[in-house]
Amino acid sequence: MAPFVPLLAAGLTAAALSTGSTATAESVPVAAAQVSVSAAAIARPAIAQRFIPFGQARKRQMAHYSRLHYGEPTWRLDPAGVVEHFTATRSLSSVFATFRSNAADPELGQKPGVCAHFVIGRDGKIYQLVRLTVRCRHTVGLNHRTIGIEHVGVSDADVMGNKRQRRASLRLTAWLAATYDIATGDVIGHSESRSSRMHHERYRPWRCQTHGDFSHATMQQYRQLLNQRLAGTSVDRSPPDWVRSGC
Ligand SMILES: [Zn+2]
Repeated sequence: MAPFVPLLAAGLTAAALSTGSTATAESVPVAAAQVSVSAAAIARPAIAQRFIPFGQARKRQMAHYSRLHYGEPTWRLDPAGVVEHFTATRSLSSVFATFRSNAADPELGQKPGVCAHFVIGRDGKIYQLVRLTVRCRHTVGLNHRTIGIEHVGVSDADVMGNKRQRRASLRLTAWLAATYDIATGDVIGHSESRSSRMHHERYRPWRCQTHGDFSHATMQQYRQLLNQRLAGTSVDRSPPDWVRSGC
């Protein structure tokens, strides 16, 4: 089995066990989230809920991570973008196990562990692992603003060439874009993270860190297909407004 290269290296640092947030309210499931006018035009795909443990300890860890890396001591997410990933493995069960484990990252030995809000299997089945009001560590520099979607697969072509998986991904992302009024230009691949207008990383050694999953070329195709699905909605379908990363 391939190692979780994109997953395990995705988030990285965050000292554990710090107090960051004292919020106690449980977040609402995605179905109860705010619904924009556009959402009416996009049907919600079938989503199986397989939530990973994300209790107060992990939330405190996430809040501390957010304070260190974004200057925001909160675990709460107000989604403004989507980052697409692939897992570098063909096993769905190993993805669940990795995200549930809340293992400290291997580089610095710090929590919280990596996760993604959704995982899409090879058969096109969509699983939600984390509520959309909670931040996940999936992309350095963007965990404070974005929803992470993992695809079980070993390459961009492996995912995009799988019709059921590709269609499920586009359906899910279009529904999220319509529901949260996320512009097409803010739907990016992990490899594009540093050029996102939302990218922010206070920890200097990580400012240029990214991964190769979902390349720019793949995402140009992906955004074209996404825009076809978003036709007739009020979602901004302009190309990305890239910034110079300086990397
Ligand atoms: Zn990734």
